[in-house]
Amino acid sequence: MIDASSGTTKMQLAEYYARVAEFILPELKDRPVALVRAPDGIAGELFFQKNAERLAIPGITTLDKDITGQPVMMINNAEALIGAVQMSTVELHTWNATSDKLDKPDRFILDLDPDPALPWKSMVEATQLTLSVLDELGLKAFLKTSGGKGIHVVVPLTRKLGWDEVKEFSHAIVSHMAKLLPERFSAVSGPKNRVGRIFIDYLRNGLGATTICAYAVRTREGLPVSVPIFREEVEELKGGNQWNVHNVHERLAEVGHEPWADLKKPARPSPPICAVVLE
Ligand code: ATP
Ligand code: MN
Repeated sequence: MIDASSGTTKMQLAEYYARVAEFILPELKDRPVALVRAPDGIAGELFFQKNAERLAIPGITTLDKDITGQPVMMINNAEALIGAVQMSTVELHTWNATSDKLDKPDRFILDLDPDPALPWKSMVEATQLTLSVLDELGLKAFLKTSGGKGIHVVVPLTRKLGWDEVKEFSHAIVSHMAKLLPERFSAVSGPKNRVGRIFIDYLRNGLGATTICAYAVRTREGLPVSVPIFREEVEELKGGNQWNVHNVHERLAEVGHEPWADLKKPARPSPPICAVVLE
């Protein structure tokens, strides 16, 4: 039993991942991955695991790159995906870079984290405001539900800048927004700093940081899933955990991977615009 609240077993979790393999494997491909394992189910102790040590997952790829400072693992095939579930993996978190160029991120992610007391409507508005700012910068942005309380905004990049520059740039965007609309946004982490507001987390854009992978399951009641959505859908969304391992299949049969169909064709901000934001 993985989740007693929905009566979901490890077998059903494995069946979920097998069923969405065609969607999640391209998202995992060549990205160092961190796992959240739940050997005693999601109500038990959770283990966040960044390397493959002591985990004999069949089909897993490991990398001993100098840049990472430690061996990292990658899940590039269905065998490794299901093997990870056999090792009680529920969540799969990925880097913002792929193994052929680990020193140059190919995306950054803004994670909208609300004060839990805020109504969902604030999250919708915050997402739209964030998209407007990214639009102004000439950046293409893509959305997914986090599977938890919020929304993740994914911005693909051509791989020119290093980790520090990209993180600094994402920080600058968030600071700018918090300065513009201090009653809505915070650029500082910690629950005290976002009372009545939404913290836009840019911190997961550094080297070695990870974010839940699209189509991956969360260790939360009902086993919600992180799901790509169309920008136009954000208004109708009911929450970050709207879809779960049981009800997401209908949606995927309907829209497939269409919401992110254009993600692989990145645009980049022109240097003058970058300079303005960073001021
Ligand atoms: P929500 O929408 O509910 O905020 P989320 O996915 O945005 O969901 P968390 O689940 O709180 O947020 O993820 C926290 C971040 O920390 C992610 O970037 C994740 O990869 C990372 N993380 C999670 N667990 C650990 C851990 N034990 N050690 C280090 N980093 C972790
Ligand atoms: Mn979040």
